[in-house]
Amino acid sequence: MARDETTDFSCKELVAAASDYLEGRLPASERARLEEHLAACEGCTTYLEQMRRTIALIGELREEDVPPEALARLLGVFRAWRHAR
Ligand SMILES: [Zn+2]
Repeated sequence: MARDETTDFSCKELVAAASDYLEGRLPASERARLEEHLAACEGCTTYLEQMRRTIALIGELREEDVPPEALARLLGVFRAWRHAR
């Protein structure tokens, strides 16, 4: 599979686009590039799966239980975790 230079999509970019991707807000062209990177990068596949589970978990809670700041903080934890590796 292609590396970052040829996919033109780095791990950092994936992390930045992850929430848009999971919420279906990413344009089709960006989504294709992101999925191409995913196919070649185990770390990002794991990262995205963890994030998807977190979002699903949050989705099961009632809105008043999850203030936007808490969601942002949670997503920030995932970003920090990814960058720390
Ligand atoms: Zn990656």
